[in-house]
Amino acid sequence: MADSEQLNIQALESNVRVYSRSFPATFSRARGSIMLTEDGRQMIDFLSGAGALNYGHNNHGLRAAITSYLESDAPVHALDMATPAKLDFMKAFNSIILEGRGLRYRFQFTGPTGANANEAALKLSRKVTRRHNIISFARGYHGMSLGAIAASGNRSYRAASGVSLSGVTFMPYDGYLGADVDTAEYVRVMLMDESGGIDPPAAILVETVQGEGGINVARREWLQSIQSLAKDVGAVFIVDDVQMGCGRTGDFFSFEFAALSPDIIVLSKSLSGYGLPLSMLLIKDELDVWLPGEHTGTFRGNNLALVSATAAINLYWRSRAFSEEIQRKGKHIQRRLEAIARGYGNRFSVRGRGMALGFDCQVPELAAMTTKKAFEKGVMVERCGPLDQVVKFLPALTIDLETVDKGLDLFNEALSEAQQQTRFSAI
Ligand SMILES: *Cc1c(COP(=O)(O)O)cnc(C)c1O
Repeated sequence: MADSEQLNIQALESNVRVYSRSFPATFSRARGSIMLTEDGRQMIDFLSGAGALNYGHNNHGLRAAITSYLESDAPVHALDMATPAKLDFMKAFNSIILEGRGLRYRFQFTGPTGANANEAALKLSRKVTRRHNIISFARGYHGMSLGAIAASGNRSYRAASGVSLSGVTFMPYDGYLGADVDTAEYVRVMLMDESGGIDPPAAILVETVQGEGGINVARREWLQSIQSLAKDVGAVFIVDDVQMGCGRTGDFFSFEFAALSPDIIVLSKSLSGYGLPLSMLLIKDELDVWLPGEHTGTFRGNNLALVSATAAINLYWRSRAFSEEIQRKGKHIQRRLEAIARGYGNRFSVRGRGMALGFDCQVPELAAMTTKKAFEKGVMVERCGPLDQVVKFLPALTIDLETVDKGLDLFNEALSEAQQQTRFSAI
């Protein structure tokens, strides 16, 4: 980025900005998995808008639907009034995504962020059960509004809230206490104990893979145990599929591999398919106890976003082919990352599911230096985990293998250089 642009940003934009620091360039165009900077550099995007761009930037299959909708003068904003765009979306989602999987849910369109959708899910669970406590998991992330951040683990995010965050009890996620400890059993013992000190929960809120928390992967049996525990204690079972849904782990929903049947499913990030803001809850019929207008918002179910969401469903989810493609590419990326890790002995580890993969550098400074160097070489990757020590790979699900391999080669070069530089200082 030119120095003058750097200065303009510093003068005009709040100090809270973050990605313009990690990726210091001005991005003027983007297509698929490539972002173009104003000074003509081609960057490989392994970040995908933190999971909001599963179908890549400016996917032309989806763009066509948006442009023709705009040209028709159909309503873009209509609060939550009925429009053909909304009905088409609900019909397509219901028949292709839900009925195809034997699922039955009602749709609740919430404000456009994942945080707002989680707020609505927690509020509804508390209303249904007339309880206040929520069980969430260490290292979970559910958004920045007060209710959602109360259910999120990150200490600095919590501290920034400035109020005491309450109403949530944290429990250990799968693998949190090492491979030998069955944390689902631990959670069960705690919740079933009449003198365990934990108020009966309104909901158990879980991610099947913790995205922000470090790409921590829960096993099928663990998720099933947590689901049946929720039933046994009369709690609503909520899967926050904001980041891992919409195909990220291979299937449309991240919990399909474990054959779960959540009471509430939370979707956002890649739901619109185009990076347009759109969030919703899928609610089981019997939980839909809302009174009209009890959770509202100006931007619910934006029609333009619904149009691209419908196009994404029609284009990618009518058959199993896309899922198989994601699984195949995910395995390829995982194998390549494991080979890179092996090149450095046993110091690094690789984990993930589908096309959500984490490369654990163990040392935060090394991860920071690696992603910085990767950017200089033309690859954009971000970090996650409690100390930001994990490099997080979330490429567009539509990426081609040639671009994947090119990006991973550059990542490996960056890692190797960062390794040499940090060896004497930090490790
Ligand atoms: C990103 C994210 C959220 C929050 O979504 P926002 O749109 O940023 O509010 C919630 N849950 C998970 C799992 C996420 O990854």
